[in-house]
Order: sequence, then C-alpha cells, then structure tokens
Amino acid sequence: MSSTELTLDQRDIHFALRECLPIEKLSESELFSEFDVDTVDMMVQEGIRFAIDVVSPTRTESDREGCRMEDGRVKVPKCLHDPYKKAYELGWATMRVSQEYGGMGAPATLGLVINEALNGANLGLSMFFGLTSGAAELIDTFGSAALKKKYAAKMFQGQYTGTMCLSEPQAGSDVGAGTTSAVSEGDGVYKIKGSKCWISSGDNDLGENVIHAVLARVKGAPDGTKGLSLFVVPYTRVNDDGTLGDWNDVTVASIENKLGIHASPTAVLNLGENDNCLGWIIGEEGQGISSMFLMMNGARIYTGLIGLALGGAAYENARAYAHERVQGTHISKIRDPDAPRVSIVNHPAVRLNLINMKAKVEAMRALLYYTSFQFDLEKIAKTDDEKQSTQNMVDMLTPMCKGWCTEVGLDVVRTGIQVLGGVGYTKDFPLEQLFRDARIAPIYEGTTDIQALDLVGRKMLQNGGILFQQLMEQFSQLIAEHSDHTELGGIIKSFEGYCESLYETSMASQEVLKTRGMEGVALYATPFLMFFSSVTAGWLMIKQAVVAAEKLGQIKTEQGIGELELSAFLEENEDALFYANKIKTTRYFVDGIIPQFDALLAGGKKQNYDALDITF
Ligand SMILES: Cc1cc2nc3c(=O)[nH]c(=O)nc-3n(C[C@H](O)[C@H](O)[C@H](O)COP(=O)(O)OP(=O)(O)OC[C@H]3O[C@@H](n4cnc5c(N)ncnc54)[C@H](O)[C@@H]3O)c2cc1C
Repeated sequence: MSSTELTLDQRDIHFALRECLPIEKLSESELFSEFDVDTVDMMVQEGIRFAIDVVSPTRTESDREGCRMEDGRVKVPKCLHDPYKKAYELGWATMRVSQEYGGMGAPATLGLVINEALNGANLGLSMFFGLTSGAAELIDTFGSAALKKKYAAKMFQGQYTGTMCLSEPQAGSDVGAGTTSAVSEGDGVYKIKGSKCWISSGDNDLGENVIHAVLARVKGAPDGTKGLSLFVVPYTRVNDDGTLGDWNDVTVASIENKLGIHASPTAVLNLGENDNCLGWIIGEEGQGISSMFLMMNGARIYTGLIGLALGGAAYENARAYAHERVQGTHISKIRDPDAPRVSIVNHPAVRLNLINMKAKVEAMRALLYYTSFQFDLEKIAKTDDEKQSTQNMVDMLTPMCKGWCTEVGLDVVRTGIQVLGGVGYTKDFPLEQLFRDARIAPIYEGTTDIQALDLVGRKMLQNGGILFQQLMEQFSQLIAEHSDHTELGGIIKSFEGYCESLYETSMASQEVLKTRGMEGVALYATPFLMFFSSVTAGWLMIKQAVVAAEKLGQIKTEQGIGELELSAFLEENEDALFYANKIKTTRYFVDGIIPQFDALLAGGKKQNYDALDITF
C-alpha cells in the first residue's frame, strides 16, 4: 500500500448522494438547471479522479517539506504549485463560484462531495481554495462594485489568494475582544493598525497577491462584536487598472511551527507597523460580524467535512491493512498450535474497531450531505415557508456538522492507527499525518465548546424553539412511518427511546437553569451537542437503511433469492452486499454508537456539578 494512496468509498458516496437524496430536484430549478443527474455523476467521478491522481500524491511530500519564510514572505511546498494551478484551470477549486466569474455555479452538495475528496487528498492544499472562495464571497456579496471588480474575479480564479482575519492574540473564541483599529480616510478607505494571528494561507507564493478579509474596529465604535467592521486589506495594493501597486504595510511576522497541516501556512500578520496599511470597507461600518455570520454556516459545514474526509481516508486505509496483515490465529483455534495464521480482520476486536469507524464515517456523510442539500433547497425554494424550513434545518444542523463531525472524524483516525498497530504510528503510513491534520478541525472555525453553546444557547431557543421542534417532528415522522418495519423495527424502537431522552434532557435544562443558572446548563452543553448530533445522524442512517432494505428486497425478488441462499448470493452481488452491509452498519450505529454519546451525558443526568464547585 503506497503511503500517499487515497481511496474513497465511492459506493457509499453514490448511495448517500444519488439514492438517498432527491438530487434531481436541483436541476428542476433555473439556478441549477445544468446539474442533471448524469452531469452530477460525471462531475463526481471526474472530481474524485482529480483528487486521487493529481492532489493526493502531494499529501506526504508537502507535509514533510512544509512551508517556510524567505525574506519576509512565505514559500509553500513546491509540489503544491502544479495541482493548485490545475484545480483552478479545471474548475475543481471553483465549483460553487458563479459562472459570471468563470466558476461552475454548482450546488453546494456537489461542491461538498468533491471537497470531501480534495480534503482527503491534501487538506493543506484544499484549505487555500476554501479560504480564497470565502473571502471572495464576502467581497462579492457585501462589497462595492469597485471592490468586486478589483478583487473578486481574480480571487475566484485563483490569481489572488484570500484569508479570513478574525483572531488576535487576546481574541480567539471571543472575537469581539479584537482591538485592530480602523481610522477613516474618507471614501470607504481606512488606515488599519493591529496584529492578526493564526491566519491560514496568511501568506504564500501560489498567487500574485494575498487579499485579507480583516475584522477591525472603527475608532469610536462600540466594544464587542457589534463594533467590528470588515475590510479588504491586500498585501500589495491594486491600482485601478488592475496592475499591482505599492506594498500595503502588511508584515508577515512569522508562521507557526505546528502539529499538522504543514502545507498550510498559519501566519502572524502585523498590519500598519509604518502607519501605512490601507483597508477598504466591505459593506457598512459595524456590519462586520453579521457579514461574517452569513458565510458562517457554509464555512462550518465545510470544516465538519474535514472530519468525514480524513476519517473516511483513515477507514479505507485501516480496512485494507486489516485484510493484509497476518497475525495470530482465529480465536476459536487459540489453543491449537498448528492453527493457520489469519489476517487481523478476523479478530473480533479489530472487527469492532472497523465497524465503529465505518458506521461513524457513513453517519458523518449522511449528516453533511443532508445539511448541504438543505442549503441548496433553501436557494431554490419556491415559497417563503419552504425557504424558512430549509433555513431552519441548516441553522440547527450546522453546529452538529462542525462540532460532531470534527470530533468524530478525529476519533475515527485515532481508531485507524490502533487497527494498524505500530506501523500506524510511523510515517510509513498516512494515518499519523491524517491524525495530526484532523486535530485542528475541532479547534478552528469555532471550537467544539463554542458550537455547543451555539446549539444550546442560540439555535435551540431561536424563534421560540421552532428549529428544535421541526427536527423532533422529523424524527417522529420516521418513527410513525417505519416502527413496524420487519428488519428495522427493533432499532426504530431504540431510536424512539433516544428521542425521548433527548426531549427530556432539553426539558430538564429549564430546571437546571433555576437551580444552577446558565453555568449549570453550559456545563453539559458539549456532551449534549454530541448526543443530539448522534441521534440526528442516527435518524439519517435509519432513513438510509430503509432505502437499502427496499433495494435489497427488490434485488432478492428479481433474482428469486430466499433467506437460505442469501449469504452465498451476497458474495456474488456487490449491490446486494452493499445494501445488506448498510442495514448492519445502521443497526450497529443505533445499538452501539448512539449509546457511546448518550453516556457522555451521564454526569448531567445525575445532576453532578462538581466540575463547577471543585478548586482546580
Ligand atoms: C492552525 C490554525 C489555523 C487557524 N486559522 C485561522 C484563520 O484562518 N483565521 C482566523 O481568524 N483564525 C484562525 N485560527 C484561530 C482559531 O479560530 C482559534 O484558535 C479558535 O477560535 C480558538 O481560539 P483560541 O485559540 O484563542 O482559544 P481560546 O479562545 O483561548 O480557547 C481555549 C479553550 O477555552 C474554550 N473556551 C473559550 N471560550 C469559551 C467559552 N465562552 N465557553 C466555553 N469554552 C470556551 C475553548 O473551547 C478552548 O477549549 C486558526 C488556528 C489554528 C490553530
């Protein structure tokens, strides 16, 4: 097995995208009319091929080489230049960008699938695409015509790269503590002064210029997030005719020496050390955070995708290795010295690790694809009600996508290392890099704890709790429709129990609020996020299993296969095997995995508040 090889479960990708989501609805709209199912299939195939053939060979090399500073500028690993250029030329980096800017104008769901492959192939490289599109989108959505003309097209085409500059040394999770200042010079131009840290793609030699989207506080604006405005701050100023002008007093002070994503430079930027850094306002003063928030759902769903992409790559690696590595005898022959040695996939403990990985990966995929699809449905909604209900779903599911998938993805990679044993810990296999790279996802774009507060403190309460109610109604609908399902009735009963527990926990929080205040509710917010997300993912897995059971039933009827011949038949028929496995994976997810997350809430259920009262 080559150490850079990327394999993806293309069968599950196809199933989740094409067999479980009514993807054909998208091409019925004017906006996505070009994306009929054949086009979607073709693009998924080609995009994945690009990720495997062109991007994944750079994963190890770019990790080993890393980024470096030379004369105050950043050089990225050499091997990234060619795939970066090709990704823009072929359109894989600009799938969701509108055709007006030379992009494909593809639905978010399709972009997500291709990005699953690109992230798995090399997260360090794909981060450049995401950040540049994000910053360009801000300019395109909220910026003046002049700003759009100067920056957006060049960014969308990869000629300029982009960044998002929120964090400062004293302002991490608390973005509102930012002190970078802006003083108006008139005509929407401001003098910017301050220091930004942790800036991904903060400087590089992939494009001709680096365009920073910077949050700063206009002199006299209120404290906190309300007083923040958003600015375009180019590294090199751009003249009105589009040529590059003077240096804009942006200093790349350093890049971080960090655990993973070595191909992604994380920079400290000093703005205006010589009092000569200009920023052009995007939108109105004081609108910075609300503009950022409009982009937040998309960015957070895409960060959740890292968990799926890296977890998925880890599972494929571990699965292949478990078939190859021979060690020990079958447990049933443990006392027989002549028993043949078997591959480790035969050991129950390894099988349990593998099914944990597989079920979590498929559940992440189900959750992320579904959420992204709601995002697209919102764009093409025909009525206000439809628009509102899809928007509600996206709002509710976004902290789950970000919080749960990034944590679960990391856990899947960790388990993958365990499946490989000693070699999993070495650089001869990709698992150790995947682990280092995946570790950032639960931290940036709002830590897991911040996602939990978003879910518990905002989303659950939004519009009088309608978002929560809407999702619970979906759960109830599944239970009502399928509780007497022959194969799935048992797990649907268990699922009903989790839903009750979820409802009771959320109701009990009113009591906690009275006895222990907000502190008491916040204490178990993260375990609650993890449990709630697992139940939501379970709901989607059961929906998938219903489809799988139906399709398996059809195949069996068509081929005249009875229960007795089934296991021999499954060995010959790939589709039937896939559907049968989906049912088993879902059963295990509901019986074996949701309880893992339920257990995180045990302290809360016992009303244990020692963490608040203890002295550390
Ligand atoms: C590799 C990398 C790339 C990054 N890229 C970017 C980028 O491109 N642009 C950018 O602007 N930033 C970026 N960041 C910064 C990142 O978003 C922050 O690190 C993150 O928001 C957390 O902030 P912090 O590191 O200051 O931690 P802190 O905010 O100090 O948090 C430390 C711990 O306290 C917890 N905590 C903090 N406040 C609360 C609270 N109110 N309730 C509960 N728990 C809380 C956190 O969950 C965390 O566990 C990047 C960071 C890294 C490491």
